[in-house]
Amino acid sequence: MKELWRLLYTQYFLTRSTLVLIFGQCFSNFANIFLPMRVTDHITNAADTVISFEILPPLKGKGIQSLYTHLDPLMECKPAFINVTYHRSEHVFKKTADGNFRKVVVRKRPGTESICAAIMNKYNVDTVPHLICGGFSINETEDALINLNYLGIDNVLVLRGDAAKNEANFEPEPGGHKYTVDLLKQVQDLNHGVYLEEDLKNTMKTKFCIGVAGYPEKHFEAPNMDTDLQYLKQKVDAGADYIVTQMFFDNAKYFSFVEACRAIGITVPIIPGLKPVYSQKQITMLPKVFHIDLPTDLSREMIRCKTDEDVELVGAEWLLQQSRELKKGGVPALHYYTLGKPNLVANVVKEIM
Ligand SMILES: Cc1cc2nc3c(=O)[nH]c(=O)nc-3n(C[C@H](O)[C@H](O)[C@H](O)COP(=O)(O)OP(=O)(O)OC[C@H]3O[C@@H](n4cnc5c(N)ncnc54)[C@H](O)[C@@H]3O)c2cc1C
Repeated sequence: MKELWRLLYTQYFLTRSTLVLIFGQCFSNFANIFLPMRVTDHITNAADTVISFEILPPLKGKGIQSLYTHLDPLMECKPAFINVTYHRSEHVFKKTADGNFRKVVVRKRPGTESICAAIMNKYNVDTVPHLICGGFSINETEDALINLNYLGIDNVLVLRGDAAKNEANFEPEPGGHKYTVDLLKQVQDLNHGVYLEEDLKNTMKTKFCIGVAGYPEKHFEAPNMDTDLQYLKQKVDAGADYIVTQMFFDNAKYFSFVEACRAIGITVPIIPGLKPVYSQKQITMLPKVFHIDLPTDLSREMIRCKTDEDVELVGAEWLLQQSRELKKGGVPALHYYTLGKPNLVANVVKEIM
């Protein structure tokens, strides 16, 4: 009898530990499963303000590790998604040994699509690749979208891109799109299973969630704010699911932009884009490059600073106050342009979480 008990007891423990092993493994596998989500679903399902970051691909030659080093502190803030910018090729003149100049095509920050896949794979987080009209024919755009679909990426931010460095105005690629709305329509076509080769049968439908850019201080080429807003509405009417704004440093500009959008029937989420200031050069560079204003209080404080480290402290405080006020104002998400300052941005986000 004693022997029988010992046998049963041993069997029980063996079976239990086997079950723990099996189920433990199952649960840990389950915890590692990553189900990609659309940006708009993140917003709808979130209990609190969604956080997202925008990063640039590393400079050619730097390697992916430099990107992970940038992302590591940001990932502690548990962002819902990471945007990766797109950088078109540029023509540059390189001096040759005989003293002449040779025109060459260079792409300084390649790899947007594969970086998105690498980030998803490493951090289990959704990514939003930027896709631009400039430098792409419609066939190349279709190929890029098919690649993204194969990689399991269901979000895309569509943009026109700026004029190439050697051009005064934006020139579309031969056989490419002139305005973002045309690129957006191509993404929508694929979402409906319509490919450029019209005779394809039983085609797969993609399910891209499509974001577009909006400008609280007007796009610099638009003749006035009303016209710019009408073109923004055209993008939303063509199927844009949400808007991300150009950076701004005065929240009043964002709130009045949202009001103006709602007044003309734009109902999609409008995500504010935020960027910290961290160097004195930005006092003139930001208005020049991005066509935005720095509020008097902010520029005055930046001018007073003796070093860029002092400017960074001013920038962190300004970003924190902006973030707090926007969060209180009920924005759907806070989108941070992180550039070279992941720790600054991460510290601000941790303060408001
Ligand atoms: C959040 C964000 C992310 C960005 N990311 C990138 C990036 O990764 N890579 C990059 O190269 N650039 C990027 N940019 C910059 C962007 O490409 C430029 O601002 C570009 O000049 C405009 O892009 P858009 O998509 O707003 O263009 P559009 O919506 O095409 O608008 C461009 C101009 O044309 C006008 N317009 C629009 N539609 C029409 C129409 N049908 N007929 C006549 N006029 C029209 C608009 O009023 C505007 O003045 C980004 C900008 C923002 C705000």
